[in-house]
Amino acid sequence: MESEIVAIIGRPNVGKSTLFNRLTGTRKAIVDEQAGVTRDRHYGFVEWGGRQFSIVDTGGYIKGSDDVFEDEIRKQVLIALKECRVVLFLVDVTTGITDLDQTIAGVLRKAGKPVILVVNKVDHNQREAEASEFYSLGLGDYFTISSANGSGTGELLDKVLEHLSKVSIAPEGEEEAEEERVPKLAIVGRPNVGKSSLLNALVGEERNIVTPVAGTTRDTIHTRYQAFGFDFLLVDTAGLRKKGKVHEDIEFFSVMRTIQAIQEADVCFLMLDAQEGIEAQDLNIFHLIQKHHKGLVILVNKWDAVDKDHQTMGLYKERILERIAPFRDVPILFISALEKQRIHKALETALEVFQNRQRRIPTHELNEFILPIIENQPPPATKGKYIKIKFATQLPTRYPTFAFFCNLPQYVRESYKRFLENKLRERYPLSGVPVEIYFRKK
Ligand code: GDP
Ligand code: GDP
Repeated sequence: MESEIVAIIGRPNVGKSTLFNRLTGTRKAIVDEQAGVTRDRHYGFVEWGGRQFSIVDTGGYIKGSDDVFEDEIRKQVLIALKECRVVLFLVDVTTGITDLDQTIAGVLRKAGKPVILVVNKVDHNQREAEASEFYSLGLGDYFTISSANGSGTGELLDKVLEHLSKVSIAPEGEEEAEEERVPKLAIVGRPNVGKSSLLNALVGEERNIVTPVAGTTRDTIHTRYQAFGFDFLLVDTAGLRKKGKVHEDIEFFSVMRTIQAIQEADVCFLMLDAQEGIEAQDLNIFHLIQKHHKGLVILVNKWDAVDKDHQTMGLYKERILERIAPFRDVPILFISALEKQRIHKALETALEVFQNRQRRIPTHELNEFILPIIENQPPPATKGKYIKIKFATQLPTRYPTFAFFCNLPQYVRESYKRFLENKLRERYPLSGVPVEIYFRKK
């Protein structure tokens, strides 16, 4: 299985970022904006037809004047082809085919990767006919859409789903290979926060390596370690250990690798630099981890380099929690990869989170616990209707998901969901793990 990333490529002004915003949803963009994230957010998450995947707007990573575009775009197209599952090649019906379109098409024709040709700005029927000139790019059938008004984007997403692996979000089977049950950990974070240093501190000694196991994505390797008395796999994306690799300086490339690492991990270490605090880019990665329902441990690294008194840690923690609100039940550790402080604790915590994520609460126990709470504090009546929750059960998914059966699921408010989630978190160790709650009609 390759990573489930979809890339939008194309020359400037064809509408890549408009399409990206439409697919990732305006509402979410606004929410993120409050956290100061939108400005440099070029990758996001799409939910469609019960499926989820990551999407990247390659245009967002191109900086510089017009004459560097061609070279930059060529590079990005090559990386996108290598790293992504599906490529959406966007062209503009109002300009017709340009030289740069031809160049990109030439690279794509040779790629042997699923490429979907998408003709944008088809805002009305009249332009439908004009789109037919794009057949001459030699990429076969195309989709016509209007990113501005949204027409055609549903059909496009249906097509994208056909190319994604069917298993990516399927519930976990009972029978898993033994290798699968060893916790998979990933170290993610911005450049220079100390990821390689942590890797060295964790597993610096070669003798700790048991076996390298091929990752599910090309170029990722999961290395199995036995260190500090723990047995685990580290999702090792190229570039984490070997510095100075060809693409390493390209932000787009490191973003791809971050997404892949998150997709493949059970639990992610999100590393922050204590000297810099939590920034928009860190929050982007945080949201990716959440949306992929992965376990999370936040590591504030370089704690050795911070001037501190007895209050510093508490204040620092509060500031992080403010930024990641409403999530609160997340372990935050202050470490020094350089001086090997609390490295053991970090591993131990990640493995606890792994256990938390796998936690299964027997149905009878769950109901004995939660039904009296619900009875005591039922969902508030909406429009004069009373909501009666009869029964709850945990679904057999990879991360804790609970279904509550009731008469009027559509009337249950977000705040009541949060109330139930908090009760579950008080009772069961679910720290670092996203919890999903659904209401269903009995
Ligand atoms: P990018 O450089 O490829 O990311 O392109 P943008 O998303 O920034 O869009 C470039 C311009 O095309 C902007 O002025 C958009 O408003 C416009 N645009 C994008 N999609 C459409 C569309 O579907 N119809 C029309 N008429 N204009 C669009
Ligand atoms: P990466 O790009 O995230 O892999 O970061 P590196 O591990 O290469 O570290 C970037 C820089 O931060 C290097 O100069 C490290 O020596 C330094 N660094 C890493 N961890 C620590 C730490 O715990 N304390 C201090 N003071 N510096 C650190």
